[in-house]
Amino acid sequence: MDFSQQSNCFYCIIFFQMMLSFFGGFGYNRVHKEETAMDCRTAESLVNAYINRTLPLDQLEEFIDHVRSCSSCYEELETYYIVHFAIQHLEDENEENNVTLDMYKMLKQDLHNRELYVHRKKIQKVLRLLLLVFFLLVVMGLLIFTAVQLGHIKILV
Ligand SMILES: [Zn+2]
Repeated sequence: MDFSQQSNCFYCIIFFQMMLSFFGGFGYNRVHKEETAMDCRTAESLVNAYINRTLPLDQLEEFIDHVRSCSSCYEELETYYIVHFAIQHLEDENEENNVTLDMYKMLKQDLHNRELYVHRKKIQKVLRLLLLVFFLLVVMGLLIFTAVQLGHIKILV
């Protein structure tokens, strides 16, 4: 497409710049994410942070992705997870065996819950972006409307 003829239109330039950076940003994030897929060393160093629920959202997502696809890191997480909760439940001697058995399920459930959490947060982020775009479109519409009203832009019918 040739936009050179529209180069005198200030609003068009701003609009296309915004659309480009908006959709370009989505594409960049997707490519960038694949390039920086988490390796085992990083994942192992984040196991404790996962268990203590101190991982930031983007790292949490990458961590879950990695652990889901890497059995050795999953086992590592499982071990830490079981040790972590075994210490917490040490007082309940009667439950000890049952607790250990349940923890495999608990970890699976926990991973699933946090995946849903990441997913919800991502949807919220997209909704916020859409709201922002909507807001910018309204502002631009008002600017154009004002410009037309003041006679800076003439519409030829
Ligand atoms: Zn791994």
